[in-house]
Order: sequence, then C-alpha cells, then structure tokens
Amino acid sequence: MPKKLILRPKPNASDQTPARVEPWLVLVVDDDEQVHAMTEVILRDQTFDNRPFHCISALSAAEAAVILELSPDIPVVLLDVVMETPDAGLKLVHHIREDLENDEIRIILRTGQPGDAPERDVMLTYDINDYKSKAELTAQRLFTALVGAIRAWRDVVTIKRLNNTLSTLNTSLEKRVVERTRALEKSNVSLERAKQRAETALVRETEAKGQLRQFLSMVSHEFRTPLAIIDSSAQMLRLKIEGLDKSGIARLDFIRSGVQRLLGLIDTCLADEQLDSGRIVLHEKSFDLTPMLEVTVGHFRVASGSHFYKVEAAPGLLVWGDPGMVALVLNNLVGNAVKYSPEGSTVAISGRTEGSDVIISVQDQGIGIPSDDMANIFERFHRASNAAGIPGSGIGLHMVRQIVELHGGCVTVSSAEGQGSCFTVRLRPAPRVREEKSA
Ligand code: ADP
Repeated sequence: MPKKLILRPKPNASDQTPARVEPWLVLVVDDDEQVHAMTEVILRDQTFDNRPFHCISALSAAEAAVILELSPDIPVVLLDVVMETPDAGLKLVHHIREDLENDEIRIILRTGQPGDAPERDVMLTYDINDYKSKAELTAQRLFTALVGAIRAWRDVVTIKRLNNTLSTLNTSLEKRVVERTRALEKSNVSLERAKQRAETALVRETEAKGQLRQFLSMVSHEFRTPLAIIDSSAQMLRLKIEGLDKSGIARLDFIRSGVQRLLGLIDTCLADEQLDSGRIVLHEKSFDLTPMLEVTVGHFRVASGSHFYKVEAAPGLLVWGDPGMVALVLNNLVGNAVKYSPEGSTVAISGRTEGSDVIISVQDQGIGIPSDDMANIFERFHRASNAAGIPGSGIGLHMVRQIVELHGGCVTVSSAEGQGSCFTVRLRPAPRVREEKSA
C-alpha cells in the first residue's frame, strides 16, 4: 500500500494563518501552468469559515488520479477537459466515480473550449457537480463556485457519516433483537417445560389425594367393624367372666384402650383429609368458650388423672365458630400437653381476650420441641426427633392448624427442648362482640 500523500501547505514565516487551522484543499487539474498560477493568486487571500484555501496542482489527469488515490478526502477538484487527450478530464471523472468509488468529492469542470464538451451532454452523462467555462470564471465566480462545492461536500460527508453510524446502530440493534428473541424463546421453552412439569405434578398429586381418600374410607369401613367387635367382646369378657383376676382385667382394659386409640386415629385421619380437601362445612355460631374449656379439662382429669390441671378463663368468652371443631382443637392440644409431659406435672389452660380476639393457650412442663423441628411442627405426619417412643401419628397439629385457619384464626407455638411448650390459638370473637369492640 502506498503511503498516504500529505498535501498540506508547508508552514512559512510570513504565513498569518494560525498553525492549527486546516486549509480547504482544492485540486487544480490543468495542463496549462498559467491556470494554476492564476487560481493560486485568486485564492491566496480568501477564506471560508475562517479556513484558507490551498491549491494542489496536477498537470495531467494521470497525475490527478494518483493524487486522488492517495488522498481521497480532498473536497473539490477544478478539472480541465482537454489535457493529455481531448477527453482526459471526462475520463478522470469516470475514474473518480467508478474506479476510486469517490462520490464525495465535488467536481467542477472548467473548460477552455466548451465545444469539445458541450455543457448539456456532459452534465447528463458524467457525475459532475458544476460546469464553468474558463472565460466566464472570474475571480468572484470561482470563489462562489468553490464555496458552494465545499458546502455540498461537507453535507455529503456528514450525511454519509450519519448513515454509517445509523447502519452500525441498526446492525447492533438487529443483533440485539435477534439475541433477545433467542433468549426469550429459550426462556419460553423452559417456562413451557416447567408448566408441563407443574401440571403433571398437579395431576399426580390430585390422583394421590384421591387414592388417599379412597384408602381412608376403605380403612374406616373395613377396620371399624372388627375393631367394634374386639371392643365389645373385651367388654363382655370383662363383665361376664367371673373370677377374672386383676391382671386379666388390666389386659382387657389394655385391649379396649388400644381399640379406642385406633378408632380415634381413624377419625382424626378422616377429619384431616376432609379438611384438606375442603369437604368440611363449618356450622358456625356464637358460643361461650369458657364451659368448653372446663368440660375438656374435666374429661382429661378423669382420663389422665396423673397430671395436675389449671384452668384460667374469664366467664363469657364469646367466640364465633363451629363448637365441634373448636372442641377437637382443644382436645388435641390438651391431649398432646398430657402425652408429652411427665406424670405429676401441670397442664395450664387459659382463655382471655386480646383486643377483639379470643386467645386460648395450653401450656405444659414436658419434653418441649427441638428447635430443628419447630418450622415443620404443623406439617402433616411431622413428628419431632424427641417424640420417638411416644405413640402418635403426626396428624393432630396439622388438623388443628387447618381448623383454626378455617375459622379465620391462627395457631402458634413457643417451645424449647426439655422446657415445655405453649400452644396459642387466636380466634375471632362472636359478631356482637366484634361490633361492640369496633364501635
Ligand atoms: P402426634 O402427637 O400424634 O405425633 P401431632 O400432630 O399432634 O401428632 O404432633 C406432632 C408432633 O409435634 C408430635 O409428634 C410431637 O413431636 C410434637 N408435639 C406436639 N405437641 C407437643 C407438646 N405439647 N410437647 C412436645 N411436643 C409436642
């Protein structure tokens, strides 16, 4: 590659132009040296946009072609037609536009013999920008023609640069659109897959729940009758066999309590499943909780007399709910408090109001719940690590939570392993109490 020709004027002591001002380069192509001299004289003291003009001389079209190849950023050429050949100037126009692909440079044809290149034909055939006969080109007209050509060149260059920037932006935009579209398609595919997986899991879960329901109803039907036979037979044996010693009676009671536990478990499983599948209809009404607390504790005093019970409840604790369901909650919580605490310890049950809510708490002095189990303690079938060896199914607390939430309330627990537990249930008050409290 030939080195780019530097066609700037040499600095000169008498030059008044500030060093950093770039002159407008004008390529003068003419085989007449006088034309070069005259052009230089005319432009010597002229400026446009505070920039002087600088003429680059080529005495033939061939010489001009070399200069333009090395310096394609010259804005304007003043071009003679007849030089080394009668149409050398016109051929140079073709060479500039077609071979050098320079469509920015402004070409002013300056001919001495208009007959050789008639203006109309030349303007139509060649891509030139202006046509002047040397005779009409006075100093003023030459200056005007050059300024017009330079302005046009500047506009063409600016438009081209903007076009380039625009097409670069377009390309990168298209690229980004393609990339983004691809990424979206990809995430669409994975979303679709995740949706399918979720749908399949949902179908499986529904099937599993259906199977569980069927299994539970089968268990309840198939187990209840033989269990009832075992229980009544044990009861009859206990009543009828005379002379049955104490250990025999204890064994029969043991059989009966086992049967009761199994029946209780079946009832709990059925109730829990019905709650879970939303098949339970609450029969809600306003009722006083205080007698229910007393009755529940009374039952445990008889059934589990080895514990102490403390009940603290203000009279007239009106709540809004299904009494049977609330009783189930109390039975489960007090039953657990008894089951997970040692004989001789105290189970404390309290009922009070807090704002417009009714709070029930059941506190024991038992084994407590390890911190690792606290987060899952209300999950179905979850049993704490310290409950091994104590009979249970892990369904009771799940059912308690479902019932309480169905009533619009909540249940919480505070506990530490070895330091007892306190379960707290928050229930809505009866509507009348609610109205009075909010009034
Ligand atoms: P179950 O008692 O039949 O195992 P629950 O659902 O009633 O099932 O209770 C779940 C688990 O929570 C129990 O297995 C036990 O580990 C723990 N738990 C419940 N109540 C208490 C309590 N009062 N003290 C200590 N642990 C308890």
